[in-house]
Amino acid sequence: MNDEIKKTSEIPPEQLSLKSRFQFKCHKGVKCFTDCCRGIDIMLTPYDILTMRKKLDLTSEEFLAVFTQPQILEKADMPVVTLKLLDDDRKSCPFVEDGEGCVIYEDRPTTCRYYPLGVGSLSYSGEQGKKDEFFFTVKEAHCLGFEEDHEWTVADWRQDQGVNLRDEVNDGWLELMVRKKSLPSNMKLSEESKKMFFMICYNIDKFREFVFKSSFLTRYEIAAGKIEEIKADDIKLLQFGFEWLKATFFQAAKEGFTIKQ
Ligand code: SF4
Ligand code: SF4
Repeated sequence: MNDEIKKTSEIPPEQLSLKSRFQFKCHKGVKCFTDCCRGIDIMLTPYDILTMRKKLDLTSEEFLAVFTQPQILEKADMPVVTLKLLDDDRKSCPFVEDGEGCVIYEDRPTTCRYYPLGVGSLSYSGEQGKKDEFFFTVKEAHCLGFEEDHEWTVADWRQDQGVNLRDEVNDGWLELMVRKKSLPSNMKLSEESKKMFFMICYNIDKFREFVFKSSFLTRYEIAAGKIEEIKADDIKLLQFGFEWLKATFFQAAKEGFTIKQ
């Protein structure tokens, strides 16, 4: 997850691998239960939005309007969305209930799943498909979970928290941001391009409309099987969108997007 926007009071410099061990346990019995669900910045990934709006039975547009705040990720100069907190004394997450915890636990965002781990990337490894990432623990003063007697490897924690599939789906989104960040700072995306990025990554219903109700499919040679696949499945549609953005912004998509003659 993005480490730039996450509020951290202490990030030890130690870089962890999948095999590294750390001591931690979070449960309803800890004194700090739900403290971490207040006053936080939680960046939402495209996959988070797919699952959360489904859980809440909202369109992606409704979900964005009610639960999110648009932001610009400074270093990449790309639009992102964060969870909109309540306007109460503690700036609570809208999904936290005292004593109960997270009311959307099964569909909680990726950042909440990773916590107390953060993810960083050493470099962009381009088309080789290698992920040059590392992990670190985010030790916040109020979090007593580190005093609990339970040890994990990073790999076990990821498995337990169900982040593997999420990371797989979100990879295309992260790659777009890392590619953009690695461009010289004078190479800017137009406002129109940023709007397109926002729609594809965060407003899947609007993107579906764009693909199936505009002239999009008459402009590109796209296999009939692919059209059926993206029609039936939001995740496939999202990944198709990432590839199209890569082709359009960076001429670097795995799939061809040949314009019809
Ligand atoms: S602050 Fe730490 S231990 Fe306390 S509820 Fe949050 S994650 Fe769990
Ligand atoms: S989504 Fe759930 S886990 Fe995440 S901050 Fe809100 S209440 Fe806590």
